[in-house]
Amino acid sequence: MIGSSRKFVTGLVVLLAAGALVGWIYGEPLYGFLIAALAALIWQVRQLLLFNRALHTGNFDTFRFGEGIWQQIYSRFSYERDRGSRYKKLHRQVIKEIRRSTNAMPDGAVVLDDENEIVVCNRAAKTLAGIKRKKDRGQRVDNILRDPALTRLLRANDATRTADILSPVSDERWLNCRIVPYGINQKLLLLRDVTDRIVLNRMRRDFVANASHELRSPLTVMSGYLDAMAEDDALTQSWGQPVRQMQEQAQRMTRIVSELLELSRLEGGGSASIDEIIDVGALLASACEAFREQGNSPQLDLAIESTAHLRGNIAEIESVVVNLVSNAVRHTPPDGRISVSWNSGPEGAQLVVADTGEGIAAEHIPRLTERFFRVDRGRSREDGGVGLGLAIVKHVLGRHEARLEVSSELDVGSEFRCVFPPERIVVDPPIPMAGGS
Ligand code: ADP
Repeated sequence: MIGSSRKFVTGLVVLLAAGALVGWIYGEPLYGFLIAALAALIWQVRQLLLFNRALHTGNFDTFRFGEGIWQQIYSRFSYERDRGSRYKKLHRQVIKEIRRSTNAMPDGAVVLDDENEIVVCNRAAKTLAGIKRKKDRGQRVDNILRDPALTRLLRANDATRTADILSPVSDERWLNCRIVPYGINQKLLLLRDVTDRIVLNRMRRDFVANASHELRSPLTVMSGYLDAMAEDDALTQSWGQPVRQMQEQAQRMTRIVSELLELSRLEGGGSASIDEIIDVGALLASACEAFREQGNSPQLDLAIESTAHLRGNIAEIESVVVNLVSNAVRHTPPDGRISVSWNSGPEGAQLVVADTGEGIAAEHIPRLTERFFRVDRGRSREDGGVGLGLAIVKHVLGRHEARLEVSSELDVGSEFRCVFPPERIVVDPPIPMAGGS
């Protein structure tokens, strides 16, 4: 027992004993004891009421300078109270520091709840996107940043994905958005100013598109004359071969120019529409049939394992299929095999083109979708490749929020997997009307 408690108990025992003794002198020891106990109780209740009042008024003088257990109680209480207020001050300081540092961040940060309503945001969120900490609290963020790309990003809730959107504050400012899971049922929307990157990309894209466009007309004229010359009987024999070579090169240049124009178009187009519904199974069947008809190609197997349809642009998805299958055909020996498949599940759908061809060395795989990248430049040129096919595939997939996964082993074969997110998949496609398309 600690000192003050022992003193208190001893005092109480002495008081009760004294009461009993006085009572015994008067012939009633029990009455004496009870009167002493009542007196002790009344005194303690009074102290309790005084303490309660002191709690309200803040004046603890009776206890601060008092005696016995109530002074001890007050000391403990005052120690805990001071400690509590010290911690409170410290926490306030820490919160202030955190707020100051998040406000100093050049990137916008917005905390959202599970309904995508704004909980809190930093200063950069206001400068970049016009989100106000107090005024916009409780508002849905997609009501302030109205962009379908952001709506899709919020729905996907995937920290690896980002979307570029135009800032509501200025038509010339571009923001890169990322959603990161945060706390319990919360997420953090990070906003980064990427205007410089977008402007630079746009300048590069416009330059390539303009240059390609300008090259198209002279190329058409040259190709026309070369075709005429190749068919001209008056052409001397020594010019036959050079003219044919010039014709081939002109055709190659025409292909490069049109693929560059296609790439520029894809880059500038944002997201592919979701209104068009593509029967991928039918599209794959007709593409494979066309390749089989060309003959001289390896065995081509088709496995349609899902009836799911895809929301997107049919011409673009067709160009993905044609690029992947034509690559497989060009890089697989005639006795090899190519398999094309379509399957779907809760995580989305996958279009896979696999071959048992020459394969690609691991160090080249990350560079495959770069423009003009070819593993073997000389060979690729000979078989008509220009190195833009997989760049087009990557951009088309990006426009469909899909990704390309490549796995390959030298002399064993390659697999190109296009993974589409569930938002792009129609699991129960509409039944086509008889005679309709
Ligand atoms: P290209 O017009 O040269 O085919 P792509 O962008 O389609 O350009 O492909 C880039 C390079 O990737 C090709 O040059 C080739 O080296 C390699 N590649 C693409 N598909 C395959 C495949 N199925 N097997 C082996 N190599 C491939």
